[in-house]
Amino acid sequence: MAENTFIVKVKRQQQTNETAHWDEFELRYRPHLNIITCLRDIQERPVTRDGREVTPVTYDANCLEEVCGACAMLINGYPRQACSALVDNLEKPIRLEPLTKFPLIRDLMVDRSVMFESLKRTHCWIPIDGTYPLGEGPRVAPSVQEMAYPLSRCITCGNCLEICPRVNDDSHFVGAAIVSQVRLFNMHPTGAMHAGVRLEALMGPGGIEDCDNAQNCVKVCPKNIPLTESLAAVNGQVIRHAVKSWFTGKD
Ligand code: SF4
Repeated sequence: MAENTFIVKVKRQQQTNETAHWDEFELRYRPHLNIITCLRDIQERPVTRDGREVTPVTYDANCLEEVCGACAMLINGYPRQACSALVDNLEKPIRLEPLTKFPLIRDLMVDRSVMFESLKRTHCWIPIDGTYPLGEGPRVAPSVQEMAYPLSRCITCGNCLEICPRVNDDSHFVGAAIVSQVRLFNMHPTGAMHAGVRLEALMGPGGIEDCDNAQNCVKVCPKNIPLTESLAAVNGQVIRHAVKSWFTGKD
């Protein structure tokens, strides 16, 4: 191995029905490299360590500043963003694999659209009729703003679903990110009008009861979102909503 180089191993699969294999690349070290730069180096010269020319590695990336969530992957077995993972801080050789809880598209790229479907299913938006001016929205107390802001930083990267043992082929658990968004939208005075719809969506299979309280999600969130607090808060809301519905006969 040449001096001032390091090895990156990439798990590769051109199609979902193909057996995965690993390609090893020897890259030139520079200070402050991140994993996206490594993948760009490979793209410029897709030749493996043993001299085989291969197809460039497919991966997803966009903002490169931990805002879009697109570049989530397993880096040395841990789900995280490739843009903020620095080579200097990683054990070598570096292993890159796709997230395993989402359908594979190719190499390191997966389809995370299940998260967006779950956000739709749980009504994670505030319906606003934009056809006429609505005037100023309701005022939000600073104490509520303080709680809401950290939740609003979710980038839908999927790391919390990847690490969750309850997100698997046998369960339909929506995952901590979605539950946390339900909490966020229920917190807003306008969003609260549809709180019941969101809570109903989290009752039954795939809902909040499917959480086993493993608490791994909060450890991998790149935005430090208090996911365990959200899970506990929404669990309480769901219970209160169920009891209220039972007594009043209304949703
Ligand atoms: Fe990613 Fe955190 Fe959002 Fe989960 S809650 S999708 S880990 S940003």
